[in-house]
Order: sequence, then structure tokens, then C-alpha cells
Amino acid sequence: MVPGTYLNQGAQALASRRKLFKKLLSNRRLPDEAWDEDSVRLFLKELALMDSNNFLQNAGVGEREGRIHSRLVYDRHYGLAHGIGRSGDISAVQPKAAGSSLLCKVCNFLVKDAFEVAGLGEVGYVTTVPVATGMALSLVLQALKRHNPSGKYVLWPRIDQKTCLKCIYAANLQALVVENVLEGDQLVTDVGKLEAEVESKGGEILCVLTTTSCFAPRASDKIVDVAKLCKRQGVAHIINNAYGVQSSEICKEITSSWRKGRVDAVVQSTDKNFMVPVGGAVIVGKKGFSDVPQMVDKSYPGRASMSPLLDVTITLLSLGAKGWADLLKERESLYLYLGQRLRSFASAKGERVLETPGNPISFAMTLDGFRESACGGSDERTRFLGSMLFQRCISGARVYSPGKSQAVCGHEFVNYGAHSSAYPHSYLNAAAAIGMTERDVDHFLGKLEACWEKVRGKAEGACE
Ligand SMILES: *Cc1c(COP(=O)(O)O)cnc(C)c1O
Repeated sequence: MVPGTYLNQGAQALASRRKLFKKLLSNRRLPDEAWDEDSVRLFLKELALMDSNNFLQNAGVGEREGRIHSRLVYDRHYGLAHGIGRSGDISAVQPKAAGSSLLCKVCNFLVKDAFEVAGLGEVGYVTTVPVATGMALSLVLQALKRHNPSGKYVLWPRIDQKTCLKCIYAANLQALVVENVLEGDQLVTDVGKLEAEVESKGGEILCVLTTTSCFAPRASDKIVDVAKLCKRQGVAHIINNAYGVQSSEICKEITSSWRKGRVDAVVQSTDKNFMVPVGGAVIVGKKGFSDVPQMVDKSYPGRASMSPLLDVTITLLSLGAKGWADLLKERESLYLYLGQRLRSFASAKGERVLETPGNPISFAMTLDGFRESACGGSDERTRFLGSMLFQRCISGARVYSPGKSQAVCGHEFVNYGAHSSAYPHSYLNAAAAIGMTERDVDHFLGKLEACWEKVRGKAEGACE
């Protein structure tokens, strides 16, 4: 019907896509180059057609046959309906769904490779779970607890993010809060206090839960020191690395902490690191050491949604190793750019950017003069700068000014939001997170200038 030479060319075009798929499945790594959209679609379609709900001749007589009523829903999931796992294990292969099961494996090896590109070394078992960071931490703590029923306390360097504390209580455990200490401008882990608590409470400590990514002026926890302490004392150590994958510095710290000490599991968000909708988290352990991530998989009750894994798989194939490395590099340079822009803004206004070298993602700029001169010393009025920015479409900027106490899970925190009951400054936070652009930074500084002058103008008017 068509001349042979043309047909050959067409067949080769098809074969070259097949080759991509074959290469992916045999190398089990990120492709170097990004896949084009059609290749991703074709790959997903082929996998979906391997699942029983899409067989040409299939008559389901069970209660879970992957039937989808709406075409819109079918399309949203590329026809993948069986989810992941079986009743006994979230990572188990589902006999009715060879394609979905394969996709789950592909997702986890892509994530593992992406972590390695980001600078995390010696990653062992990886599991991507369809719950966000807080719930994933809770699953990890529950798995630990089953292993060690006498452990009832989680030793927890304070971080003022409610989820970080709630995940402990959701696992039916109790937190022992350890306040941070001030070192220069930064708040750092009180390793001595942690060790003293481990020694006094002994076997009742289930684990230490540290946090890497957080708002400045809190620094990333001293995870290498804590890992050494945990190894020495025989106590488990879990790291909340919510958005730390995007920082090569944090990745290096994690690698070093599980080389030199004890780390049982590290938990990170899929949305904050891979730019996908909220819904997933990744739990990893060190190669040859930790079985905690596997324990989580094995104790997961029932099947689970595959959507978060599908989003991550599509994203990583569409980036390729190079695209992912470029995104990470861009973020590092935007971190420097944001710092530089904030510093020059601060010095023009008689403020300064707090020195927080232990936090490679977030900045804090003082608002001390602003609080005095423009807000008449009122913490409430100082905080209002945050809402003003939000009303002008600047999201994520955050203002801290002392005086707010808050109870979370039965703990009373003085000056909640500062990660410390006595931090000596009011400040404004901004973060350089993955996907941010230079335009975002410029736009933010423009609006900040406008809001700043507006509040100051009002204050001057009031004095006349
Ligand atoms: C975002 C975040 C969480 C909560 O994550 P979810 O994905 O909403 O569960 C916990 N800890 C830290 C440090 C975070 O940044």
C-alpha cells in the first residue's frame, strides 16, 4: 500500500520509541534526555493496556475490577485503575495489573536516581507512598513502634510547623520537645540536651525526629551529630526532609549522617521537591542498613492510589536527568540572587538579612526598625505586612513578630512561629524553592517596597 522505503522509515520511528522504553526498563535510571510528551503518553498507554480492566476480552466478576464510569476520570488516569499494592503490602505486584505494578517500580527507581543526581548517596530501599509528608512520617513512626513496643517518646528538636508535631501524636506517641539554641543569628539543635534526654529516659525513647528543611533563622538540624549520638546510644533516628532534596547541601549532610551514624528513614514530600500536586511522599533508607521503609510497605493496610506515583513518573521522564539537574542548579543560583536582592533592600531600609548559613533554602530579613518606626512597636501591626503582601499576590512570604503563643497537641509554645521561645528579632521570611524564577524574585521585591512605603507613609501621616 505504501512504498517499502517509507514504511521502513515509519517502522524505525516506532522502534526508536520502543527502544526508549526498553532502555528505561533495563537501565532502571532516569533517561539522560527528557522524553517528549508523545513518548510519555505512549508508554503510559502501553502499561495501562497490560492491566485487566483494559483487556479486549475481559469479564470481571469480582468486586474490584478497575471499572471506571466516567470517561473524564478514565482519561485523567490514562486508564490505570487498579492502584498499587495488594491487601498485604503496598509494594506487592497486583496480578490483575501488570502495567500498574510495573509503573510503581519505575516510579521508585526514577526517584532513587533523581535523589542520587541531587547529591544523596548510598540510597537503599525507596518507597513512594500516596500520602503527604506528615502522614508518611506517621506511618514510619507506627512501623518503628511495632518493632519496639517499649518506646513511647519521640525526641523532637522544636520546629514550628504543626504537621511536624501532629505526625507524632497521630502515631499515638508523645513528643519530648527540645528547644533550639541561639548561635549567632541562627537557631541550632541542642545536641547536648538531646543526649541528656536519651540518657535519662533510656528505652522509653522510640526515636529522635530531626528536621532539615525549615524557615530561617532556624538552621537545618545538626543531623550528622544526631546520627552519631543515635548510633552511640542505640536509638532510632528519623529525618523529616520535607523539601530538602532540592538542596545539594542538605543531601550531602544526609549522606554523611547515614555514613557516620544512624538514620533509619528519611521522609520527603513529592510536591515540594518534584513540582507535582500534593499527595505523595518518599520514604528512603540507607543501602544495606535500614529496613524501616520496607516495614512501612509491608504494614500498609490495603491497596492505595497510584496518582501521586503517576505524577512523579511523568514529571521525571519529562525532565530527564539533565532537566532535573538544570532545575536544581537554577534553584541554587536563585537562592544566591534572592539573598543578594534581599540584602540590598535591607541595607537601604536600615535592616539586615540574618546570617543563617545553616539554612540553604530560606532567608530571614529583620523588621526591627520597621516595627519601631512604622508600626509603633506593635507586633500585630508588624505582622500585618504579611497579609498586605498576600493581598498583593505574594504568597509564601511570612512575617514573624513575637508575642503569639499557641497550643499544639497539648504543648504550649511561647512565640510560636519562631522555632524558639525567645528569638531576639522580628523578621520577614522568603524562600528560594525549586521552580522559582528570577521574575518571582523581582516581583516580590517590587511589592515589598510598595507595601513597606505604604505602611511607613501611614505612620508618618499619623504623627503629623
Ligand atoms: C510541608 C512540611 C510538612 C508537612 O507536609 P505535608 O506534605 O503537608 O504533610 C512537614 N514538615 C515540614 C518541615 C514541612 O515543610
